Amino acid sequence: MKRLTMKFGGTSVGSPEALEKVVGIVSREIAQGNQVAVVVSAMSGVTDMLLKSVKAAIAGDKWGYKSLSNDIRDKHEDAIHQHIAPSERRNAVLSDIHTMLQHQQELCEAINILEEATPRISDAVVSLGERMSARMVAAILEERGIRSLAFDAGLFVVTNAQYQNAEPLWDITEQRIREKLTPVLEAGITPVITGFIGATPDGSVTTLGRGGSDFSGAIFAANLDSDELIIWTDVDGVMTTDPRVDKRARVLPYVSYAEVGELAFYGAKVLHPKTVQPIINKAIPMRVRNTFNPDHPGTLIGAEMETDPNIIKAVTSIRSVSMLTVSGKGMLGVPGIAGRTFLATAKAGASILMISQSSSEQSFCFTIPDDKAPQVKHAVESELAAEIARQDVDSVDVWQDIIIITVVGAGMRHRPGVAGRVFTTLGNHQVNVLAIAQGSSECSISFVIAEKDMALAVRCLHDLALETFNGKA
Ligand code: ASP
Ligand code: MG
Repeated sequence: MKRLTMKFGGTSVGSPEALEKVVGIVSREIAQGNQVAVVVSAMSGVTDMLLKSVKAAIAGDKWGYKSLSNDIRDKHEDAIHQHIAPSERRNAVLSDIHTMLQHQQELCEAINILEEATPRISDAVVSLGERMSARMVAAILEERGIRSLAFDAGLFVVTNAQYQNAEPLWDITEQRIREKLTPVLEAGITPVITGFIGATPDGSVTTLGRGGSDFSGAIFAANLDSDELIIWTDVDGVMTTDPRVDKRARVLPYVSYAEVGELAFYGAKVLHPKTVQPIINKAIPMRVRNTFNPDHPGTLIGAEMETDPNIIKAVTSIRSVSMLTVSGKGMLGVPGIAGRTFLATAKAGASILMISQSSSEQSFCFTIPDDKAPQVKHAVESELAAEIARQDVDSVDVWQDIIIITVVGAGMRHRPGVAGRVFTTLGNHQVNVLAIAQGSSECSISFVIAEKDMALAVRCLHDLALETFNGKA
């Protein structure tokens, strides 16, 4: 008997056809005597629609949030009608959906009156997407003879009050899952739990950030002591690069936790960057698999690192970033300038994706999301006003139209050969590198180039990853 945690993303629960696949995948495991905990996203598009309804309410557009509410209702009703015969069960789940949407409209009315939405009330609205899909999926499984119950994750995942991007409080979360959820599995019931959401200790709903239901899946897998976490999505696995940039992209059979963390942090959309956090210590294996191609084994993600220095696994890129440089001859040996700059950046609400410094200490640079660049420049200039007046710091400059490219492979740190190959390849293709840094863990190199060079750079580096893939490196 195996204990599995299966997380199904938005497209996997987003249509009647997809839900049929979900039933197939879950029943196959149950038939083999395995225990399955299911974690679900909202139906695809629903989170965005709920966020739009909040915006409409702020703008006083009553018709807007009501019509969004109707569209969300239709989407769920359609799936329920196709999967559940007219019965008590069907009526009960429809009535749950209607109650939730009633609640959405009431919250939107309140927002409409106040003409603003706090992060807290916004979380109350967007969390409804998962709360509806969990009820729907549990009812559909029941209809197909699988004993199942829907749960709101707020019962188990206790978080701080940082609405829209809440952090779990680990000890109490672990205790709640052990005490309240493990017995459900042991009783032979398949729980269907909302991804993406939690609750503060006093019970108000929080969300874990966009795309956070992968993270939820990992939280449950870790604390249920699952044998495996499976992230069911709409692609075959983690790929060597984004297939929209290079069609030759291949599915990687194996990547390590560290590598996948790096890939997710640097722009690969397949997993939420925090996903591996809860399962690393317990070394729970994770698989990314395709709901629409369930016979494909997907990508296995685990603790073991392949440290062959020739291995280049994957190439990712992030757009919509700007680079700030702080430069000046008077910075040499002056402690604290970088520290104060980064603190000012954090206070301006921007997270730094990459940092690099020239060895002469005459300048350093870091990248932040585009939309924060003006605030950060302003914040850094005011923080360093005295140094700028003394001309110790010459300028704080913003570079736009740049991107970050990250090359991932566990063996590349400490092995100059890989970096050499990467930069020689770029040089051969006349791609100019503006800044270089190591990734946040030990298995990647990131660098900044002009946005116009992106396709060329990704393709020529992807050639190196494909050589590895084909065993020719
Ligand atoms: N439904 C949420 C979102 O769209 C969470 C998730 O699907 O992971 O961001
Ligand atoms: Mg996702």
